[in-house]
Amino acid sequence: MTLIRSNAARADQEAILPPENLDALRDSGLMGLLVPQKYGGLEATMHDFAATARTLASACLSTAMVWTMHISQSDVVACWAGNELRENLLPRIAAGTEYLASVTTEGGRGSDLFTADTGVRHTAEHVEFSGRNAPVVTGGRHADGFLITLRAHNEAQPHEVSLVYASRDQLSLTESGAWNPMGMRGTESGGLEISGRVPLAQVVGEQGKFRDIARESMVPTSHIGWSACWLGAAEGAFRELLRWLRRPGRSGGPDLSSELLYERLGRIRVDLDLVSAYLHRVCDCVSAARVRGESLAAPKAQLRLNALKLAASELTFRTVDSMVQTAGMSNGYSRAAPLALERIFRDLRSARLNHSNDRMWPATGALALLDPSIDLL
Ligand SMILES: Cc1cc2nc3c(=O)[nH]c(=O)nc-3n(C[C@H](O)[C@H](O)[C@H](O)COP(=O)(O)OP(=O)(O)OC[C@H]3O[C@@H](n4cnc5c(N)ncnc54)[C@H](O)[C@@H]3O)c2cc1C
Repeated sequence: MTLIRSNAARADQEAILPPENLDALRDSGLMGLLVPQKYGGLEATMHDFAATARTLASACLSTAMVWTMHISQSDVVACWAGNELRENLLPRIAAGTEYLASVTTEGGRGSDLFTADTGVRHTAEHVEFSGRNAPVVTGGRHADGFLITLRAHNEAQPHEVSLVYASRDQLSLTESGAWNPMGMRGTESGGLEISGRVPLAQVVGEQGKFRDIARESMVPTSHIGWSACWLGAAEGAFRELLRWLRRPGRSGGPDLSSELLYERLGRIRVDLDLVSAYLHRVCDCVSAARVRGESLAAPKAQLRLNALKLAASELTFRTVDSMVQTAGMSNGYSRAAPLALERIFRDLRSARLNHSNDRMWPATGALALLDPSIDLL
């Protein structure tokens, strides 16, 4: 944690994922957090996952996001890969030697998780694909393997999407576009153009049925992981802000007896509590469904998973925006301020884009229409 925290400013400045951060995660055993114990993993719960993401994000949101996205991919492998692929990958994931990146966004098509343009060609024993344009791949430069969405075959409809695992040495990878965003710079999420040929056994789940994988595994773990990351970053920032406000003789900032200050702090605290409570309840729901072997595909479950991402992305950003205002120009807005609110503000601005709330709000409204009994969580 100390290393990751002390590297946070450099990761942001240089827009790189410091290799030593990834090495520390690989050595920690945390890369196998959700991998079953029989493969050497920690077989932890959704609550453990969320708690770990929160802690990591309070040190460096970018590094936490890199880890969270890997955990989400590892859960997909554990729940959906065939025996051969599971036996091959899960022990390596648990040992920290297989870091997985996610390729779902596609150049031109955007972030619709449930469609794909680039198709696969089938031979007797392999699938091949070329020119898969992936404009944003978190940690792509460092990953050992990739889970890639592709159209199930060249004549398939765009919504018939397959998920394919490919290791780095099975791929031809060309970097496309520099990574120079406003925030989340330490995720090093540069673009890639991807071509490759892999054995059929590396198609994860049923061909053309990625939708099921997304609903049961990738969406639940992504929304829990991302929300936990955003919450962890915001609560870490709030902790630092309160410490600074309470410091005797601090220079600058608001008067501690100000009613306006109290109101701001109250609103921040309530927003963080709301996200935390909702995150816990969604972890409960996903864990219970998994224990009972129930599907998460029902509109009500999908609505709650979406609601978590939407609420966490908007409320946590609102809190850090208010923290910048509270700390003021020199201590909040300035890049030189020790509180690092400016970096966390830029980082959390990405939350509404990843995966775009502009897509998710209408989808969530449509789901609400399917639940006229309004069965609230
Ligand atoms: C930090 C970070 C890390 C990421 N890592 C990865 C990764 O590892 N792998 C990966 O595949 N992707 C990754 N992404 C990409 C991400 O999942 C989204 O695809 C991307 O952020 C969305 O891009 P977009 O804003 O162009 O939105 P898109 O959803 O592609 O939409 C395109 C445009 O249409 C608008 N729009 C969408 N819906 C509507 C609507 N209903 N009405 C009106 N306008 C609408 C949007 O506002 C946007 O301007 C990452 C993104 C971020 C920010």
